Amino acid sequence: MYRAGRPAAKDGYRIALPMPLRRAFLGLLLLPGAALLAQPAPSPENRLAREVFEELININTTDSVGDNTAAAEAMAKRLRAAGLPAEDVQVLAPRARKGNLVARLRGSGARRPLLLLAHLDVVEARREDWSMDPFVFREEGGFFYGRGTSDDKAMAAQLVASLIRFKQEGYRPDRDLILALTADEEGGDSNGVAFLLDKHRALIDAEMGLNEGGGGGIRNGRRIGLSVQASEKVFQSFRLEVKNPGGHSSLPVPENAIYRLAAGLTRLSGHKFPVRLNEVTRAFFTRTAGALGGPEAAAMKRLVAEPPDLEAAALLSQQPYFNSLMRTTCVATQLTGGHAENALPQMARAIVNCRMLPDESPAAVQKAIVDVLADPQIEVSPVAPAKPSPPSPLTPAVLGPIERLTESMWPGVPVVPVMSTGATDSLYLRAAGIPVYGVDGMFVDMDDVRAHGRDERLPVASFYEGHEYLYRLVKALSSREGAR
Ligand SMILES: [Zn+2]
Repeated sequence: MYRAGRPAAKDGYRIALPMPLRRAFLGLLLLPGAALLAQPAPSPENRLAREVFEELININTTDSVGDNTAAAEAMAKRLRAAGLPAEDVQVLAPRARKGNLVARLRGSGARRPLLLLAHLDVVEARREDWSMDPFVFREEGGFFYGRGTSDDKAMAAQLVASLIRFKQEGYRPDRDLILALTADEEGGDSNGVAFLLDKHRALIDAEMGLNEGGGGGIRNGRRIGLSVQASEKVFQSFRLEVKNPGGHSSLPVPENAIYRLAAGLTRLSGHKFPVRLNEVTRAFFTRTAGALGGPEAAAMKRLVAEPPDLEAAALLSQQPYFNSLMRTTCVATQLTGGHAENALPQMARAIVNCRMLPDESPAAVQKAIVDVLADPQIEVSPVAPAKPSPPSPLTPAVLGPIERLTESMWPGVPVVPVMSTGATDSLYLRAAGIPVYGVDGMFVDMDDVRAHGRDERLPVASFYEGHEYLYRLVKALSSREGAR
């Protein structure tokens, strides 16, 4: 899940979906949510979704050796077989192995289309690291195992199965439903969403979209909240560099590139950017406080007051996730310098990775860093241009159906808007003027997040519930009855 338009590997924090999201709930205690996950009887709809899921997991879609086109073609075949006209099901590939599926279920056209997004590619997984073959779908002990089970092939399978279900039912939405299953969210140079926006905008143009980035959290066996990701921080790295003439290390001089850079970095380590809330983080702290109780809840209430209580902010800042929600952060992540053991360094360089609040300007952050370094000999420059990602508005037209559906399926479980501290593909769409919401109905134990890790898995019951949730949510967002 996510990035910053740079190779994914550079984005240290691409634990996309589940992680940032589930972290949203780290501070939450038990809630009066419904008790855990009863296994639903396997319906024909669930059997189909499972079959699609299995097929996707069994197709390796890693950047190194996988084939996204094969996965996209497999899904295209299913959709055509279900009766979607061939011209409404396309696989578009900028390069071999990097295919993207775009399919359209036509509606009445009363409203502009709804885009349904999931990425087909997965993070690398080595057989020797896993207890089983990561690319062989396996059900065991109430879990589905395999690379992509939680990120993001479950959602892809649920969307494909829902579209097939709509077609079989003869459902006619009041807007076109566009399904886009894309490549290179996790890594690689052929990001499918960026490619489709650039070359095939008309095919995916929509009033709004749904994507990964949200989902349900379970703590101590209880459902504690369902998050809706409406915003993301913006990735921006800076290069800090000091250059010196150098010389023989047996004749040291006071001027030293490494010392100078280190002193600047020490000053930077003490800097905190100002606390600033936006619509999404304000809603997050408000709702989390309502669910929490205790000193943290009290601090959250004081934080969302006008003006915000800085003492409360300082208390909450002690938790890395809350800290990152409240402010732009910049942290040194890489350090290089010198060219020989026996030479004075001619160069010292650090990379400082910033995660900016969505409305922050890179130039302002750069200036803040320069001011804190307070040393004109430390040159500061952006590593690459930032990709802006404006927050998607939390309108009743979107939140209403999500809240009603969540309440009907899991009474008492709160819907909590979140801002991801990492980035997802939603950033490309948001930047292109298409609001996107990260939402799904899969509840996962926050202490058992294995996305990007070994033995990735998803509870079987969560998969089926998530399928039902997405099916109903898409209907709610594409029909008058559903909107009620
Ligand atoms: Zn993902």
